[in-house]
Amino acid sequence: MKSPVFAYAAPNTVAEACSLLADDEDAKLLAGGQSLVPLLALRLAAPTTLVDLRLVPALTGITHDQGVLRLGAMTTHRSIERSPLVQDVAPAIAEAAALIAHPQVRTRGTIGGAVAHADAAAEWPAVLLAMDGHVEVTGTGGSRSISAGDLFMGPFMTSLEPDEVITSVSLPIDGREIWVDEHQRRHGDYGLSILAMTYQLSDGLITDVRLAVAGATGSVTRAPEAEAALEGRAPADSNDAITALAAELSYTSDIHGSADYRRDITTTLFQRALRAAGERSGQA
Ligand code: FAD
Repeated sequence: MKSPVFAYAAPNTVAEACSLLADDEDAKLLAGGQSLVPLLALRLAAPTTLVDLRLVPALTGITHDQGVLRLGAMTTHRSIERSPLVQDVAPAIAEAAALIAHPQVRTRGTIGGAVAHADAAAEWPAVLLAMDGHVEVTGTGGSRSISAGDLFMGPFMTSLEPDEVITSVSLPIDGREIWVDEHQRRHGDYGLSILAMTYQLSDGLITDVRLAVAGATGSVTRAPEAEAALEGRAPADSNDAITALAAELSYTSDIHGSADYRRDITTTLFQRALRAAGERSGQA
């Protein structure tokens, strides 16, 4: 199908992009186009204006400062995967980027677009939630920071205002262990379950744990009961947490897999994360 007719603008600054959004309530930002363009082609979206962010230099780049990894919104999944800086300071983030789709999609798709799109089966929202990250956004009224917990309101829903642009994504990495993995039916597919876990290890015990699951439930979600059951425990002492994770989430059933199947693979992913924690603490 052909996309509906739309006007096109390619501003050079974030401020210009925001005023284009404010001037036309049916305008939409275009980043890598890897989610929006298929929606246009299927006529599931019909924006009157596309505001292309590709000429806004302020939106790209990766920095690490004071324990925070900052990724410009237009940074592609592929750039994150291949960044020597990310591979050095947070290799699990580079590995998480590599889980997304195929190289062709990763070369165009951006972290800002994926976070704004808020697909319940996407990797970045789960990573952001597990890492207690936040996004910096700018609108016509100024800039603000939104924590992951306040950003994701449900599948394909965020708390962004219509004239706001995500300018960057910040992930606190200092002193935290990060683990991200997923199960896909075929290489490159969306994950049937994605599990992201961050925690601290002290004297062989897990503390300050944050667990996020995507793909397996209707929206990206934390698992507070499993987190509480794991707090202060050794990785090998985690049966209560495993039981809690299986029980507390409402798993999705569809043509790709039943709820029971998704529960099982999420449990397996969690067990792998705990095994990795045991290895990191020298207890394996
Ligand atoms: P676009 O498609 O350009 O935009 C998506 C939405 O975000 C639009 O509503 C747009 O207005 C908004 N937006 C974009 N940038 C901003 C911004 N800076 N501020 C505010 N709003 C903004 N994704 C996964 O996570 N996992 C997968 O396994 C996966 N598999 C895929 C397989 C295929 C075949 C394809 C085509 C896509 C797949 N994707 C997957 C989606 C891909 O990751 C996209 O890159 C991502 O969802 C959207 O990023 P984008 O830059 O392409 O954004």
